[in-house]
Amino acid sequence: MNMPSLVNVTEEIVFGLIKFLLHGLEYQTFCHCESCELEIAAHALNHLPPYYVTTSANREDAFNQLKTSENIQQINKQIILSIYKMGKHPNHTD
Ligand SMILES: [Zn+2]
Repeated sequence: MNMPSLVNVTEEIVFGLIKFLLHGLEYQTFCHCESCELEIAAHALNHLPPYYVTTSANREDAFNQLKTSENIQQINKQIILSIYKMGKHPNHTD
């Protein structure tokens, strides 16, 4: 991460989890294209508190704080809601 820059650590975690979930068996019927992935991320992130940092050290701290199993469960729950909301109604027709 180049300094200085504004990074939302919640966003990084959400992207990782969305990719992981969408490529699992449970969601194989949902669209996996980049556009849907971004729609799901946008929807989830609008419902989750952001966690902004500007330095690598703070980013590490934030990751450690956010990656509790309780918090990940909370984020996963929101992502699953977003997958159902966005994934069943893609913004594209092809
Ligand atoms: Zn799609």
